[in-house]
Amino acid sequence: MLDIFRKRRMWKRQPELKDSYDVVIIGGGSHGLATAYYLRKEHGITNVAVLEKRYIGSGAAGRNTTILRSNYKTPEGARFYDASVKLYEGLSQELNFNLLFSQCGHLTLAHSDRAMFVMANRAEVNRLQGIDSRLIYPDEIKQLAPAMQVDNPNTTFPVIGALYHPPGGIIRHDAVVWGLARGADHGGAELHQNTEVLGMDRSNGRVTQVRTNRGNIRCGQVLNCTAGWSTIINDMVGVPLPITTHILQACVTEAMKPLLDVVIVSSQMHVYLSQTDRGEFLMGAEIEPWTTYRMQGTLNFLQDVSRHVLELFPQLERARLLRSWAGLCDLSPDYSPILGKTEVDNFHVSAGWGTYGFKAAPIVGKTLAELVATNRTPDLIAPFALERFYEDKLVSELAAAAVSH
Ligand SMILES: Cc1cc2nc3c(=O)[nH]c(=O)nc-3n(C[C@H](O)[C@H](O)[C@H](O)COP(=O)(O)OP(=O)(O)OC[C@H]3O[C@@H](n4cnc5c(N)ncnc54)[C@H](O)[C@@H]3O)c2cc1C
Repeated sequence: MLDIFRKRRMWKRQPELKDSYDVVIIGGGSHGLATAYYLRKEHGITNVAVLEKRYIGSGAAGRNTTILRSNYKTPEGARFYDASVKLYEGLSQELNFNLLFSQCGHLTLAHSDRAMFVMANRAEVNRLQGIDSRLIYPDEIKQLAPAMQVDNPNTTFPVIGALYHPPGGIIRHDAVVWGLARGADHGGAELHQNTEVLGMDRSNGRVTQVRTNRGNIRCGQVLNCTAGWSTIINDMVGVPLPITTHILQACVTEAMKPLLDVVIVSSQMHVYLSQTDRGEFLMGAEIEPWTTYRMQGTLNFLQDVSRHVLELFPQLERARLLRSWAGLCDLSPDYSPILGKTEVDNFHVSAGWGTYGFKAAPIVGKTLAELVATNRTPDLIAPFALERFYEDKLVSELAAAAVSH
């Protein structure tokens, strides 16, 4: 209770920018902050600056729908996200900050035989990686989500089964951002908000200087952790990324009594929802097909998402929508991240996070910190190297990614 009216600052007042840092992290979202945190925690590297053009968490980290899970389609993806969920399990205690992680379970609904086949395949891949994931049928779905219309004869897409992933769930995104920021700050990293990277100088295959609106910085290593803006930053050093940026929208209802304590996703209906600890129904859909950096929502989204949610939960017919918003998503061609080294010696990336990158924050931080400290690519992220697009070694998560949070 004492900390509700906290007098102590979460992190130090913003210092002046120094002339140089060992590590410059561009982007104060979950990935940039996690990397700063693990640099100190695992490797004792403290001369680190996180540069954020607005305020920390102002990007997708503060706009996402907070779903964590690891039941991915490829062994590479499943292994990677599983390592992240496991880190999240201990993160509240480690950061001494309650992240409200609820492993309430995650249901991906199947509405066709084809979907059941794809999910059976996913469950097999998951179990081979030691991940709890299995196909279930309407009787068990009804037990897990008694308020959901499973047998509605008038529904466009009948529910015939689901992929059930018990360790999946939801967390508080703002708590994750603040907890990691405080952890990074206590470890000695400097958090520079309102500090926009405007350009970078490159010489002899290295980035020598980062130019910002508050002055120029010499740098040991530079990390691009800007997600939706990652192509802009990469272009500054002449390393193009095969990424397009789209908006993803979400909305919440007013708070309701507890009705749902599992995450529901339907790829075919292009909808997903969960009920937050405050009682709001948090709902979303798939990315919009056009590319943009303008985070403006649409009426179409609200109409479509409401229609589909009401087919599953007619009880929400009179629930009022409180807020809706949009955030940027950086989509790679195979729906897997682009992570690690680039052709520029001291410039590394964390990009291609599409609609699913929040769950990866701790493992991105840990593995990128290891790369920076040792100059070696950890095995877990080797499959996600940028070179895969030149070597034709894609890690295709497309089949599992229609609504892919
Ligand atoms: C509506 C929505 C729902 C989502 N739901 C989920 C979900 O349920 N589960 C999940 O795992 N993922 C989800 N995602 C995706 C997830 O939020 C992102 O993939 C993830 O947050 C990206 O990593 P980040 O947090 O580091 O990025 P961000 O928070 O976007 O951080 C990037 C930062 O870089 C800063 N920046 C950009 N350019 C510059 C510059 N020139 N100089 C300095 N700073 C700069 C930005 O201001 C921003 O703060 C969702 C995304 C959206 C939009």
